[in-house]
Amino acid sequence: MTDNFRDHEDRNRFELDVEGTTAFVTYRKSPGEITLVHTEVPPELGGRGIGSKLGRATLDAVRAQGRKLRVECDFIRNFMTKHPEYNDLLAPGEEQKADAITYKAGCFCGAVELEVTGSPVFAGYCHCHDCQAWSAAPINAFSLWKSDSVRITRGETDIATFHKTKNSYRKFCKLCGGHLMTEHPRMRLIDVYANLLQGYTHEPTLHAHYGSKMVSVRDGLPKYRDLPADLGGSGETLAD
Ligand SMILES: [Zn+2]
Ligand SMILES: [Zn+2]
Repeated sequence: MTDNFRDHEDRNRFELDVEGTTAFVTYRKSPGEITLVHTEVPPELGGRGIGSKLGRATLDAVRAQGRKLRVECDFIRNFMTKHPEYNDLLAPGEEQKADAITYKAGCFCGAVELEVTGSPVFAGYCHCHDCQAWSAAPINAFSLWKSDSVRITRGETDIATFHKTKNSYRKFCKLCGGHLMTEHPRMRLIDVYANLLQGYTHEPTLHAHYGSKMVSVRDGLPKYRDLPADLGGSGETLAD
């Protein structure tokens, strides 16, 4: 736990001070239990990992206080999905909810809707010729989900599929032409276009197929000429 973190009981919140600004998690306490309600990280502290630091310090504090945890806050739930080492804090009946964060997505006209649950296996950007041509854009922001965590909730009969290769089945709405996702049967993963997922924070970790880039992205992330080795590529990286 960090020095500038505290449990401010008068205000019912855990607080983390950073350069005079306070990020916090509000809670309700009852004997032996705590419910984390809402997390706020002021925009001026954004993009610096402050949210993760606050999440970790908060859950460490819950552990130190020996309380059973309930979570109403989406941010903390997301954080716990990525940090399952805190799952043992959850009160009975809360376990399932921790894995059940759901994001909705829809096509351009709204006829087709889908949901994904949990967190993506990989997230990043693809610069391949096929994504460029298919999306009519220089870069595709992808989020790859296990096939069984993607569910069509509306308009299944309005979905059409096109595949140029057996690796990628590209799905779109027949009515509006809006692109939805690409199924990769060989990897048993589905790329749901990250831009479509409501409430989802894209946290890219890599650039794929940078060897065919149309634009350079100087974000310091690894740039694979094709794909990382664990996705079946050469694993070779290129400069920004
Ligand atoms: Zn549509
Ligand atoms: Zn691609």
